[in-house]
Amino acid sequence: MLVLSWTLKNITPEALHASLLQALGPQSPLSKTLSSGALPGLLLIFKRVGCNVGRAEIAVSQQTLKHCVRCHKKYMERNNGRLACQIPHKVSSIPCCDQNSSMCSVDRHTTVASNVAYNGVSLVACGVGALKCLKPTDG
Ligand SMILES: [Zn+2]
Ligand SMILES: [Zn+2]
Ligand SMILES: [Zn+2]
Repeated sequence: MLVLSWTLKNITPEALHASLLQALGPQSPLSKTLSSGALPGLLLIFKRVGCNVGRAEIAVSQQTLKHCVRCHKKYMERNNGRLACQIPHKVSSIPCCDQNSSMCSVDRHTTVASNVAYNGVSLVACGVGALKCLKPTDG
């Protein structure tokens, strides 16, 4: 499988990741043809190389609505991802961060407060200030 390893060595992880995600997207003309043929094999490869596919299977089957303790939005685990939880910078007298990036925080939605680096400006805990999180411990 020299062709495969050469290909992997000559594509950036980001490009590979992006094109895989795009091919799997519901809008992609590839997604139908791939799912009947190549995708079960690809999933098997992911399992064999140690990806936590079991965790993914649980995530996509869950129907419960969770409350994110970072952005305070409701979400389903099936829609969660590394870019799902985006917090814009907050314009205030106290700077929220050094504002080097376009977003103040980009991460996964989470129900675990200790995963969040609260700064008291753009990232505030459930129930602080104007936030009306009814049941912050949900999920
Ligand atoms: Zn910020
Ligand atoms: Zn969130
Ligand atoms: Zn909240």
